[in-house]
This record gives sequence, structure tokens and C-alpha cells, in this order.
Amino acid sequence: MPKLKFELRSSGYCTSHKNHVLAGAKRETIRFYATWAYIYHPTKGHILFDTGYTKRFYAATKKFPSIIYGKMTPTFIGEKEEAWYQLQEKGVNPKDINYIIISHFHADHVAGLKDFPNAKFVASIEAYHDVKDKTGIAAVRRAFIPELLPEDFESRLQLVNICEGGCNDNHLGQLFDLFDDGSFLLCDLTGHAKGQIGALLETEEGRILLAADAAWVEENYKNMHLPSQIVRLFFDSWVDYKVSLKKVHDFYLANREVVIIPCHCAATIERVGIHEDVSEIG
Ligand SMILES: [Zn+2]
Repeated sequence: MPKLKFELRSSGYCTSHKNHVLAGAKRETIRFYATWAYIYHPTKGHILFDTGYTKRFYAATKKFPSIIYGKMTPTFIGEKEEAWYQLQEKGVNPKDINYIIISHFHADHVAGLKDFPNAKFVASIEAYHDVKDKTGIAAVRRAFIPELLPEDFESRLQLVNICEGGCNDNHLGQLFDLFDDGSFLLCDLTGHAKGQIGALLETEEGRILLAADAAWVEENYKNMHLPSQIVRLFFDSWVDYKVSLKKVHDFYLANREVVIIPCHCAATIERVGIHEDVSEIG
């Protein structure tokens, strides 16, 4: 089985409250870093899992109704923190990114898609169908900003049905073997957003589970510590969210050697990420 190279990075952050992320915690303002991953596959080439924020988010949230989204999530991103810039700095031309796996369509995961003109996009059928025709308030309710998708998005999109993926994990359930070589397995983590997917990767440093927003911080999946119920307003399904978090929790208990990466966990980024110093840019 091929082994992947893996780097965890982040592009920008929004602020939130600790008591929203962890029910019962103190009401402290915390940074919600928008992580993404750079992955290199020996034959499939350069791959991203999500993209983080770009400054496009500011332009796209200037008008009603997406301004509501912008106001609810005060966001900070500088151009040098954007994914394309970081990749260029490390010697990877953004034009050479072959695949971008989209965990779900919230703006902090897709704001950079337009910077990768040759990438093929991979998302779950459920995730894309839930947002594809949404505009206005219906889009804002899904934290979806249609103009962040490239014009030719659909012609470059591969929709996957996790159930048809051909393999299985005792805790994560059905897995979709993206490259038919066992190195890049997609799993269903629906709930936070409909059809959200995570990825179980076989990397040079061992197995890594990208848990997307099924858990925001490690306390969520380690201790089944749920977010405050206030966040239910923005979730597709609270019931499904709890099922997906439990999957990650059970997987964690059974596979302690696997590095699990929630999308917005500062401690995880500190431990395994390449942390660009984030400047205070409004
Ligand atoms: Zn999200």
C-alpha cells in the first residue's frame, strides 16, 4: 500500500466561545483555526483536504444575506496565510494540485477552491445535494456561500457514495477507498453538515484520521464532551452529529496510535501542524 506524505496547515481563523465548543466550559473567546491538509500520493500527486479561509470570504459576506454569516463568525485571514500562498512557498504550484477532498461546504472549508484551477473535487453526494441549489437565506443557514465555488465546479466534481466504497471499519462503518489502494479511505461523518466526510489516511508517519467538524476540539471526541446545544441551530442534525462523534470516540478508544485531527483544535495544530503565525487582520 502506498504511504502518503502529510502536512496539517491552517489558513485564518474565526472567533468563537469556549462554552459553545464545550458545553459547561467558561465563556472565553477562542480562535477557531481553519485547518486543511496537504497530502502527497506517490502516483496521484498533490492533494488537499479542505482549503481553509481566503480573503474572498470578506468580499462574499459584504452583502445581505451572507453578511449575517460574516457577522456571526468574525474572521481573520491574511493573504500570506491562504492555502495557495503557503503551497507556493513550499514549492508546490497551486496549478499542480490534482484533487481537493471537500469534507463539507461550510465557507471555512471551501473558500480557497478557486485558487486551484486544475484540481478535481471530491465530495459526498449528500453534502453537495444539500447545498447545490441553495441561495440567499437558505444558503446562509447552511453556512454556504455559492460564489466561493468555481464556475466550472460541477464539471470537475466527483461525487462519492460512501456506502459503495467497498470496505469497512468496526467503528467508522463503511469506507470509500478513493484510489483503490487502501491509502485514502473516506468515511461518513454526517450531522454537523449533511453528508460530511472524513478521511482515514495511511501516511509515512502512521495512520491519521481527519475528523472534519465531527469534533471541533480533542475534548469532544476523547471524552464525548458535546458542544453547547446552542450550536444545534447551525447543525444539519444533532442526532446524527452525536452518532458521528460517537464513531470517532469509539475509533479513538480502539486505535490509540492513530492521530485524530478535528478541524479546529488549537492543541492538535500545536502538536502536529505547521502553524503559520496568524496576524490580527480584520
Ligand atoms: Zn463546518
